[in-house]
Amino acid sequence: MPSQQSEPPDDRLARLRGPRPPQPYTARKITALTANPACARRAVLDAAGVDKALLAQQVGYEPRFGQSPFALAREQAFHSLVKWGGYAELIRLLREQLTVPVAEAHVTDLNEVAGNTALHVRERETRRLIAHVASGQDVRLILDRPVLTLEVAGQTAYLEPDALTHRIDGKFHVVLIRSFAAIDGQANPTAVAEAAKQAAVYVLALRRAFETAGLPTEQISHKFLLVCPKDFSNRPYGRLIDLRQELDALQFQLTRLRRAEDLAARLPETATLDTTRSTDELSSSIEALDASYTPSCLSFCEMARYCRDEADGCASPARLGSGIRNNLPGIDSTRTALDYLDGVSAPGQAEAEAADLLRAAARLRRLRRGAA
Ligand code: SF4
Repeated sequence: MPSQQSEPPDDRLARLRGPRPPQPYTARKITALTANPACARRAVLDAAGVDKALLAQQVGYEPRFGQSPFALAREQAFHSLVKWGGYAELIRLLREQLTVPVAEAHVTDLNEVAGNTALHVRERETRRLIAHVASGQDVRLILDRPVLTLEVAGQTAYLEPDALTHRIDGKFHVVLIRSFAAIDGQANPTAVAEAAKQAAVYVLALRRAFETAGLPTEQISHKFLLVCPKDFSNRPYGRLIDLRQELDALQFQLTRLRRAEDLAARLPETATLDTTRSTDELSSSIEALDASYTPSCLSFCEMARYCRDEADGCASPARLGSGIRNNLPGIDSTRTALDYLDGVSAPGQAEAEAADLLRAAARLRRLRRGAA
């Protein structure tokens, strides 16, 4: 389970969130944020550490999100199995997948440092150990649950990959443990793609740690080791997956994220995202943050049903997907588009081209219907 952020976000963001403890950034949140970098609403909610599922509930929308308790229990059991006996199964997989002698590998548990579980303490210890291993002083040390940091929308995210291997052929590998099965060596492609995006977040954070320590980032592998159950057994299976494409995409998307503090500063002084406040106060504050709804939000954001109804209410073309939105440049409502088609109102110069395309599409549709 991710730990709490140890450092509060800036005052304005903390005031917006109210008295509840902040929700931490996780790799899953960062990949969701970069899936819709134009959305100021999500950027501020995440940077302020607001519990989005609770917020959605408070404004009347039950989020259909999160893993079932059964899936969570299965994931935890599989994690324990891989880590059992000083990561014996992981060491076996490293031997098989990376064909190196790792018999004498040992593990440092970074879930705590001398009883201290604070993220910044664990992060400092992680950096110390990375420098130690990278300099060749302890070539067989696997890090269990290291803590890395990454700047996201102007905020520091503390991230906890499952494990980091020792140097193998001069490279460090990020390890992700997932409980979805690989049947005959093939796992669900959507689940693997999501794991790869999250692994890219960790690899990027690891690069930052190396850069800060003045270490060569070439020591970090662009492949990560995915560990999941083999076939219908619980026997761990491992596969190296190339991340170059995900890393390029993530780096690009992170540069597009606007600074959450700047976005929050534009809100009225009375705005609040404190989930203990009234529905009306919360709704008006949420509305004051620009959203950028597309149907794909339903697959990654707890606020999706709220934003979908809002997009419905204002007949946003994006409600029908980014393809439709891109085909209607300058037209911010499907009602307006229909008015142009029906001749109820005339498009201005900026909308003329999109209106012409709409008329052509309507003509084509009529012709097709006639031909049918
Ligand atoms: S559901 Fe709403 S808040 Fe979430 S990413 Fe989409 S538009 Fe933004």
